[in-house]
Amino acid sequence: MTDTMQTDNITTAFERQAAGVIDRRCSFDLAARKRSLTRLADVIRKNEGAIVAAIAQDFGKCATETILTEILPVLQEISHARRHLKRWMRPKHATPTLASFGTSGKVRPEARGVCLIIAPWNYPFNLAFGPLVSCLAAGNAAIIKPSEMAPATSALVASLVAETFPPELVTVIEGAVDTSTALLALPFDHIFFTGSPAVGKIVMAAAAKSLASVTLELGGKSPTIIGPDANLKRAADWIAFGKFSNAGQTCIAPDHLFVHASIKDTFVAILRDRIAKAYGKSGTSPDLARVVNSHHADRIAGLLDDAIQKGAQVTLGGARDGTYIAPTLIETVTPQMDIDHEEIFGPVLPIMPFDDLGTVIAQINARPKPLSLYIFDKNKSRVDRIIAQTSSGHVGVNLTMLQFSHANLPFGGVNNSGIGNAHGHYGFRTFSNERAVLTNYFSPIFLFFPPYTARVKRILRLAKRVLG
Ligand code: NAD
Repeated sequence: MTDTMQTDNITTAFERQAAGVIDRRCSFDLAARKRSLTRLADVIRKNEGAIVAAIAQDFGKCATETILTEILPVLQEISHARRHLKRWMRPKHATPTLASFGTSGKVRPEARGVCLIIAPWNYPFNLAFGPLVSCLAAGNAAIIKPSEMAPATSALVASLVAETFPPELVTVIEGAVDTSTALLALPFDHIFFTGSPAVGKIVMAAAAKSLASVTLELGGKSPTIIGPDANLKRAADWIAFGKFSNAGQTCIAPDHLFVHASIKDTFVAILRDRIAKAYGKSGTSPDLARVVNSHHADRIAGLLDDAIQKGAQVTLGGARDGTYIAPTLIETVTPQMDIDHEEIFGPVLPIMPFDDLGTVIAQINARPKPLSLYIFDKNKSRVDRIIAQTSSGHVGVNLTMLQFSHANLPFGGVNNSGIGNAHGHYGFRTFSNERAVLTNYFSPIFLFFPPYTARVKRILRLAKRVLG
């Protein structure tokens, strides 16, 4: 397709959706929204095999992991939204204040209009359709731009949407950076972007041109602390799952571990066994996904080589064959190594011993605020101290990853790891304009209107005493 044709297609898709906005505001009621969500759930259930096949083609992910981490979360999001939508849509009464005496305030969640959803490649199905659930629940139209790096899933997302929704409600525009750039030039009402912090900045700058609101679901390095009183076996179970499912290509995967020196050797031995049990001694089990492409496999191998050259020791794994990288543990990591400051986003896990928790907290605080912070420890006061003295989008205590599946928790980062929230009611609010409506019945505020006579000034002095 030529550039002009692509731009024309994009503009037509946008204008078609924008034209329907006023109409939809009046007619896209609870029943219509629920129907859309049901249609989405039906098409997903009917196409489970095709979804599994597309993701396997894109990066060798096995069926069980695809069902667990791509399909189920979207179906759960749909059924949660369907169950609670009536309550979410209801205008909320605002508790009156003294100054608003004689009025009645309501918050009406209203559709924002036409929303752009830009998805990444690492959970190419979940992160395209998950935001769509909140977007439709909130009564919007959507254009989805899936990632070009997962081409089979991108094509499938496009065909499922085309067979499920009229184009004025949901349209998929496939393509790479040029397509994203052309889309970002249009005056969307909201942009929901999932991807890297670097591209998040480009998206936010583009949104500024039309003052579109943005949600940025970004990434970064999620640290994990294992305290001296952790249940080491359980910690190894959760960390092996969190780090090596999707071959480590997960925004909330533990990026690196700080392990208390008193238990470090015991923990590493348990973790090695746990990884061998999950992925076989050589780490070649079909349950381990591949890295998405050779560019990213080279990037991860480059981080590992740089670390080894600068003195890191590989204590497990290290093998690479094309886009296969074995689950790898490395130790003796120093700040001079690239792996110490770049998001790893692959199956390589640095392990750093510590004696003093204060030093670990200072190290975390010296870096951009992470998306997730994980703590394994049975000592509650130590856990509370870490939470109180750091900042992150989420905290997982004695678990990894599960916070993504909790429909009543906000999912989002802070500063470098993101802006705004997804999931459940938080996702619905993200895609809604919370419109304040205040109706006057017998407000006495007119007593303060000019001319500011002595009587007004007397009432003002009285009001200051009561309100101030
Ligand atoms: P990416 O930022 O490279 O790409 C994301 C999307 O942006 C893709 O659709 C891509 O086509 C588009 N894009 C790329 N460059 C662009 C540009 N210059 N202008 C406009 N659009 C552009 O991210 P990725 O490599 O697909 O995903 C990995 C990153 O996403 C990691 O940093 C990861 O931590 C993060 N991530 C975050 C979450 C979350 O929920 N917070 C989830 C998954 C991934």
